Amino acid sequence: MDRSSIPLRQFEKSPGVFGLMATRRIARGEVAASLRAVAPVKVRSRYSIQIDQFHHLDTRDPEKPGFDDFINHGCSPNLLFDVGTLEFRAIRDIQPGEEVLLNYCATEEELSEPFTCHCGSPDCYGVVSGFRFLRRTQQEPLKGLVSPWLKTKYGL
Ligand SMILES: [Zn+2]
Repeated sequence: MDRSSIPLRQFEKSPGVFGLMATRRIARGEVAASLRAVAPVKVRSRYSIQIDQFHHLDTRDPEKPGFDDFINHGCSPNLLFDVGTLEFRAIRDIQPGEEVLLNYCATEEELSEPFTCHCGSPDCYGVVSGFRFLRRTQQEPLKGLVSPWLKTKYGL
């Protein structure tokens, strides 16, 4: 995907904290961006995305941080990452200026660096540690969102 056509731009949410916002309306189901394929690695980092039980994509380039490094977690996200196609797709209509958010627990079984979430969602997890640490009642609503391998492993 041509980087210039990605309808997302970086913004500073609060001093030193960055996120990505939509530069135009992104319709539900639309591919907002995609990751270039890189060789999967076995070590997770705070910037990697888990694609199956043992593999992670780490697209970090210190010279040129990838747009995906700025997508924040939200417990009620508007974007999902498809581990099959490496695409970020809108799960509902996203308005111009709205921050795009991924639920990290939909791809990550266990985060390398758990954190306290301040997303403001009524369904906020509080501490985000990864899919395996969610209660069953938190896992079940993610059925349509989580990576196929997680779905299988956790019998969703
Ligand atoms: Zn939250």
